[in-house]
Amino acid sequence: MTTQVTDHRGGVWSIAVPIPDNPLGHTLVHLLETDRGPVLIDTGWDDPDSWEALAAGVTACGFALTDLHGVLITHHHPDHHGLSAKVREASGAWIAMHAADTAVVRRTREATSDGWLGHLLDRLTAAGAPEEHLAPLRTARAGGGGRRMPGLRAALPDREIVPGELLDLPGRRLRAIWTPGHTPGHVCLHLEEEHPARHGGGFGRLFSGDHLLPGITPHIGLYGDPQPEDGADGADGPGEAADPLGDYLDSLERVGRLDPAEVLPAHQHAFTDAGGRVRALLAHHEERLARLGTLLHEPRTAWQLATAMEWNRPWAEIPYSSRTIAVSEAEAHLRRLVKLGRAECVPGPGPVRYQAVDAAP
Ligand SMILES: [Zn+2]
Ligand SMILES: [Zn+2]
Repeated sequence: MTTQVTDHRGGVWSIAVPIPDNPLGHTLVHLLETDRGPVLIDTGWDDPDSWEALAAGVTACGFALTDLHGVLITHHHPDHHGLSAKVREASGAWIAMHAADTAVVRRTREATSDGWLGHLLDRLTAAGAPEEHLAPLRTARAGGGGRRMPGLRAALPDREIVPGELLDLPGRRLRAIWTPGHTPGHVCLHLEEEHPARHGGGFGRLFSGDHLLPGITPHIGLYGDPQPEDGADGADGPGEAADPLGDYLDSLERVGRLDPAEVLPAHQHAFTDAGGRVRALLAHHEERLARLGTLLHEPRTAWQLATAMEWNRPWAEIPYSSRTIAVSEAEAHLRRLVKLGRAECVPGPGPVRYQAVDAAP
């Protein structure tokens, strides 16, 4: 295996940690040197090859795994937090995460597959999913009720990343910027130090996780996650009134105002002109919301909206699991349009239908 390590200078490296069977290819785990030893920003997918790549990468940066002092997690997704338990085991490093994502990790550890599938079934039914999409979930629920979720092994963090505060990293100035949207507790980390190459305008470098990526937009769905079984009635879970797309757009503006000289994202590659990328993403989402508003001149369920939205391929070619994710994205857009007063629920029985408020020509 070839180890892909990039020296970004000034005591910052990135290690490309592969994500098995995923078109994204790899997670860029960043290593930041501090006076108390190196810390990692994210860890990568929990897989033997990924672990090997991470360990080799730490060595290539000139450190031993046992030197690692801490782990900062941008958000709870398995391509970022997957190897955290292994790192802690190997080094004794602490793991820090925003409280909102730590809560997701805790709920996932406590959830059973039965509770999780029930929650998903309720949500998809309310969204108007057809029987052929619901049936496999019912079968799985009937066959495997009570089993624990695979997320059980995700490490419970032992420190909290507090928004706006400098992290306790001797010799470095790294500030936590809360950027909810992709997950409720996503954070970017701003290295408030002169850029070693001083290219472009702006100040410092931003570890942006999945929030700001050079060539792709992160998935924004509802903040639904496995609920404890007794909370699985779909009506009272945390995040039911949340507006993740609204949060994400606010978070984009927050990061744009920081004006970092360079962005070090967790996928793809480092880039400059954060402000330009933020403006492009805001315009993209505004355009998409406008198109959805047009589609809602005819009342539609979230499922019907998802099938009519533009994706990277025709709906008929979207695989089963991606359809569930697509519907969650349609729901996040509906939530935003309702909050903006541009769409509303149509009263009636059955799955909830929405229509545009400005439906007049
Ligand atoms: Zn993610
Ligand atoms: Zn990711």
